[in-house]
Order: sequence, then structure tokens, then C-alpha cells
Amino acid sequence: MSKQLTGKVAFVTGAARGQGAAIARIFVREGAKVVLADVSDEAGRTVVEDLRDNAIYLHLDVSEEEQWKSAVARTEEVFGGLDILVNNAGISQNAAIEDMSIEEYQRIISVNQVGCWLGMRQALPCMRKRSGGSIINTASSAGLVPVANRSAYVASKFAVRGMSKAAALEFGRDNVRVNTIFPGAIDTPINDNAALAGLVQGLPISRMGTVDDIAELTLFLASNKSSYITGAEIVIDGGMLAGFKLNN
Ligand code: NAD
Repeated sequence: MSKQLTGKVAFVTGAARGQGAAIARIFVREGAKVVLADVSDEAGRTVVEDLRDNAIYLHLDVSEEEQWKSAVARTEEVFGGLDILVNNAGISQNAAIEDMSIEEYQRIISVNQVGCWLGMRQALPCMRKRSGGSIINTASSAGLVPVANRSAYVASKFAVRGMSKAAALEFGRDNVRVNTIFPGAIDTPINDNAALAGLVQGLPISRMGTVDDIAELTLFLASNKSSYITGAEIVIDGGMLAGFKLNN
């Protein structure tokens, strides 16, 4: 069977572990050259070691525009262009509004929200040179239905939802698609699995999602198989947001 991303160059943020690492691995499996970017350098370099000549690791704090410029320039230098961007890097919080500082709030907005916007802004000119591309932004089920004690996270993911659609409208003329995924409870280090156990048990698909569930969906959105999909929001949550169950 032919590979789905042969000849493509992809850039994945937050790729040192969790969903981002799984996405980078599946992209390489499907023939892409991949840039893994993160602030967690040691873990990122370890992931890249397994991917041999098909991937490089770059240090990138997604909230810093100058770092984005260097990282994108390096991508073009090493692999000759850019076709796919996965804005996956993210941080969360567990604090009530009255217990958070403004600095904590702004840090989450800077990484999750501004980081996504900066990535799209830097990727567009590169993709235009290649006559098209695919951007996949990572929101969250909390970007559709809010969660208490996650106000900054919720705000940032609602923003990702909105800016992705605005970008899809703007980038269409350059044949650049922009879609958003909304993961539910995925088994990665960002979560306290014990705290989620009750919630997960009650889901229509009563397990946590895996990083491979996310990687397969991201692959579909990156590949030409989704060539007529842009501005879409795809929930991947085991049915969490489908509705409520009654006991009678
Ligand atoms: P994770 O914590 O395992 O991985 C996140 C990665 O982002 C880490 O490697 C971290 O070092 C990196 N990162 C953090 N700040 C960064 C920055 N400023 N610049 C670059 N990289 C940075 O988490 P994950 O579960 O793999 O999450 C990936 C994405 O999926 C996040 O955007 C998260 O909000 C979203 N998400 C996760 C879940 C879930 O249940 N795991 C659910 C909904 C949405």
C-alpha cells in the first residue's frame, strides 16, 4: 500500500511526548519528513533518535515569534519546504479563577492560543510557496464545553476554535486547509488519570483515548484523503460530548 505523506514535510509542536510524539511517528511511518519542536529538549531528541534521517528536533517555545521564524527557516533549509503544520503544544492548569495569578493565566493563553496563531502565521507563506498545505490545530473538548478550575485553558481552546475557522476562511485562496481537533480524555502525561476514571467509565466508548487514536485522525487531516475538508471541527472524545444519559 502506498504511503499517505510521501514527499511531504510536516512540523509538529509539542512533539517531545504525548500526542505530538505519536503524530510525528505516524507521519514518518507514512513517508513524511518531520520537524519535532518542543521546549523539552532531552525528551524531544530521544523521540527523534528512533526516526533516523526522517526527522529533526528543534527547540521552540511556541509563544515566541522570533523562535518560530528561526524554526520555520530551518525547516525549509533542511527539508526544502513545509506542507503540514500540527499546532499541538499545550499546557493546562488546575486552579480556580480566584486562586490564579494573572501571570499564570497569561502564560496559558500565550502558549495555547497565541502559539497556535503564531504557527499559522509563520507557516502560511511557506505553504503558499508549495501551492497548498494542511494545518491541524489542537483544541479540546474543553474548547466546546467548559470545565471548572480550567478557566485559562478553556478560554485558550475556545479561541483556537474561533481562530481556526477564521484562518480557514483566509487561507482557502492559497489552498491551505485549516481544521481543528477536539480531544476528550486522552491517556497522556497532561492528565491525572485517576481523577478522570469516573468520567471515562460513563462514556459510550468507556476507555481513555490513546495517542494513536489522535495520530490517526491527524494523519487523515494532513493527507490528501481530507482534501475537501477545511474549517471543520472534529471531536474525538469517545462520545463524551454526545449528550447526557438518564437513569430511567
Ligand atoms: P503533553 O503534556 O503530554 O504534551 C504537551 C507537549 O507540549 C509537551 O511535550 C510539552 O513540553 C510541550 N510544550 C509545553 N509548552 C510548550 C511551549 N511553550 N512550546 C512548545 N512546546 C511546549 O500533553 P498532550 O496530552 O499530548 O497534549 C497535546 C495537546 O492536546 C495539547 O494542546 C492539549 O491541550 C491537547 N489536549 C489533550 C487532551 C488529553 O486528554 N491529553 C485533551 C484535550 C486536548
